[in-house]
Amino acid sequence: MIPESVVKNFRSSFRGQSFCPGENGYDDARTVPNAMIDRRPAIIARCTGTADVIACVRLAREHNILVSVRGGGHSIAGRAVCDGGLMIDLSAMKGIRVDPAKRTVRAEPGLKLGEFDRETQAFGLATTQGVVPTVGIAGLTLGGGWGNLHAKYGLAIDNVVSADVVTADGRLLTANASENEDLFWGIRGGSGNFGVVTSLEYRLHEVGPIYGGAVFYPAAKAKEILHFWREFSSESPDELVNQATSITLEGTPAFGVAACYCGALADGEKLLQPLRKFATPIADMLGPMSYLQIQGMFEPFFPPRRLVYTKSNFLRDLGDDAIEALAQYVGKSPSPCTIAPFVEHWHGAATRVAPTATAFPHRQYSWNFFAWSIWRDPAESERNIRWTRECWEGLRPFLVAGAYGNYVTDESEAVAREAYGCNYDRLVALKNKYDATNFFCLNHNIKPTQSAPAATGS
Ligand SMILES: Cc1cc2nc3c(=O)[nH]c(=O)nc-3n(C[C@H](O)[C@H](O)[C@H](O)COP(=O)(O)OP(=O)(O)OC[C@H]3O[C@@H](n4cnc5c(N)ncnc54)[C@H](O)[C@@H]3O)c2cc1C
Repeated sequence: MIPESVVKNFRSSFRGQSFCPGENGYDDARTVPNAMIDRRPAIIARCTGTADVIACVRLAREHNILVSVRGGGHSIAGRAVCDGGLMIDLSAMKGIRVDPAKRTVRAEPGLKLGEFDRETQAFGLATTQGVVPTVGIAGLTLGGGWGNLHAKYGLAIDNVVSADVVTADGRLLTANASENEDLFWGIRGGSGNFGVVTSLEYRLHEVGPIYGGAVFYPAAKAKEILHFWREFSSESPDELVNQATSITLEGTPAFGVAACYCGALADGEKLLQPLRKFATPIADMLGPMSYLQIQGMFEPFFPPRRLVYTKSNFLRDLGDDAIEALAQYVGKSPSPCTIAPFVEHWHGAATRVAPTATAFPHRQYSWNFFAWSIWRDPAESERNIRWTRECWEGLRPFLVAGAYGNYVTDESEAVAREAYGCNYDRLVALKNKYDATNFFCLNHNIKPTQSAPAATGS
């Protein structure tokens, strides 16, 4: 535990709120959306700005305290919360300023996607973020950031122009194309390994309204849909992003496609017609809508405090045998809340960036497999986790070892190597330069090779 006198001294100069075990607000502050995570930091420091973040880093360094960093808290593995250490909580840092003339936005790391989209859409602008509005912009962006605009405008990282980073030695650095370029490269895909990002500047684009939504068919049609969808998606223009997903709709197992077309509405309507005419849908929610509506479409399927377990890797290809394997698991999950299997289509601008241009290496795969299990009753955890693994094992012959780091829950070094792929060695060199003691270790971790004794937590 951290000595009381140290906490008292820290609190005397810290501007934000802080919470220790037993104090009012502590349990709320340590709670993250995935109910599988139940960790107890020794102190939670809810920062109001960069100076508070620097104070946290200095405190932890001086007293050798384990550190976790919380943005939106949506890491499925619960990397935002630690046991026995200091949780640097950025959730109150929600400043955002759009510059409509330059088409850029400066945003603080406590913002959630929905809050970010709302502010940029006030100017008719947007940039790539994910598809569930409660997720944090910082965690999502630092890992890559796939979403409805990725094919037209690149991943979230491809739109980052500049970032402010508090490094492990408590310095505040600006990282962009002309300052600390190596750090700028590393934070775009290297997760929180190099410091606490206290501000992100993104490029914006004119977006909305869009044509999209989702169309669902009976689960028994999954194989036919996947065959059809493979051809349909392979010809997608950059304006169209879609994903095929298994879901339960009002108690009925269903399989369908969610789509977002960000070009002219009439073109989108025409392009998406085949999706709804393929057979008789059980639900057709395709139509013109605002960008905020499409961005909020999945929110009801991810309520907070459900138990969550996921497995994900890129598919080598969406061949007939992979489709056969996927179809076998559709509608078979033990929980009706589960969304599995599902496949995201990655294409367009995000895949035209060189794998070494940013720290995120996976620019060449088209299909990303996911088994995302969600359930309510802790007594059902073993059954749901087992099923998720079985589903992933069933797909394994068709998966590559590489995975999108933001979707990885396995903490092993081997998995990290695969997720960082061809950039791993360069990232280790950068970690040696900016964080040789692995001060920032609760993330999709890159282990430095010049390691020093780890900080303490329980
Ligand atoms: C319901 C749901 C939907 C999702 N949808 C998408 C999607 O559409 N597209 C997509 O690409 N991903 C998606 N993801 C994955 C998501 O990108 C990751 O889970 C991401 O890490 C969440 O970020 P966060 O800030 O909410 O989480 P946190 O748990 O707060 O942070 C995640 C990691 O990032 C680090 N981190 C956070 N903020 C900072 C910071 N400012 N500086 C340094 N390190 C920081 C944390 O320490 C932690 O290691 C989804 C996840 C969930 C649970």
